[in-house]
Amino acid sequence: MKPAAFQYHQPCTMQDLLALLDQQSGTKMIAGGQSLAPMMNMRMAHIEQLIDINQLPELAFIQDGQNQVMIGAMTRHHEVASSDLLQRKCPLLAYAAQTIGHYVIRQRGTIGGSLCHADPAAQMPLIALTLNAHFHIKSIQQDRVISAAEFFQGAMTTALQENEFLYSIAYPCFSNKTAWAFEMFNRRHGDYAIVSVALSVEYDDDEVIRNIRIGLNGVADFAHDYSLDCAPFLNQTFSEKWLEDLSQHLMSQFLPFDEERISASYRLDLAKTLITKAFQRVHVRFLKDRG
Ligand SMILES: Cc1cc2nc3c(=O)[nH]c(=O)nc-3n(C[C@H](O)[C@H](O)[C@H](O)COP(=O)(O)OP(=O)(O)OC[C@H]3O[C@@H](n4cnc5c(N)ncnc54)[C@H](O)[C@@H]3O)c2cc1C
Repeated sequence: MKPAAFQYHQPCTMQDLLALLDQQSGTKMIAGGQSLAPMMNMRMAHIEQLIDINQLPELAFIQDGQNQVMIGAMTRHHEVASSDLLQRKCPLLAYAAQTIGHYVIRQRGTIGGSLCHADPAAQMPLIALTLNAHFHIKSIQQDRVISAAEFFQGAMTTALQENEFLYSIAYPCFSNKTAWAFEMFNRRHGDYAIVSVALSVEYDDDEVIRNIRIGLNGVADFAHDYSLDCAPFLNQTFSEKWLEDLSQHLMSQFLPFDEERISASYRLDLAKTLITKAFQRVHVRFLKDRG
């Protein structure tokens, strides 16, 4: 199928982009087009004014800040996945980007597009929520910065107003005592995952666990950060008993849903397996890095 007719704009400066967003109603921006183009073709999205932001190279960057890494919204998934800086400073994000869809999708799809699309099974919203990333949003009137928890308002819904766009995202850097893991399960390579787990654990010199950040997709109606639920398990060392108790506790927080072909109980079983795998992988990584 072909999309319904629309007006096409291709701003070449940020000022032009801001002015277009301010003047036109019924607008949508197109970044990599990997989600929006199929929706337009299937007539699931009706757009009057399409603003193509591919001629704005200043929106594609990965910058080293003091304690954070800033990523421009138009940075492609493959650039996030292969960035040396991110592999050193925010390896969980780089790794998760490698697991998105297929090669071609990662070449075109952008981090900003994925975050603004807010698919409940997508990797990028999950990582942003788990790591408490911050979103820099621009409009002609103002710049504002909000947390991932404020940005995502549910499946396919964000806090962006019609005249705003996502400029960049800031992720906190990992300390050298932090180990991480990303586990997901999908039926076929390249499919969205049924359940995924993003995890980072900070240890002290005595192997005591001081901080846990954990988020899951697939056990509620949107990606969710369960880090606060881990508070009773901090200031302890890793053991199989500790892990069993922690995963049981986390399971009691989940609200999985039944679908025709995937039951809620299947999602719960999968979540338990992936959480266990993630913590075990993290612990092995921590011991290996310590030497
Ligand atoms: C076959 C297939 C498999 C896929 N598998 C996965 C997968 O496993 N995991 C996964 O996470 N994703 C998957 N995707 C989706 C892919 O990651 C997309 O790249 C991503 O969802 C959207 O990025 P995009 O740059 O293509 O955005 P677009 O499709 O161009 O835009 C998506 C939405 O974001 C808005 N938007 C884009 N940029 C901005 C901005 N800077 N500010 C404000 N609004 C903006 C657009 O208006 C639109 O509403 C898959 C896609 C396909 C086709």
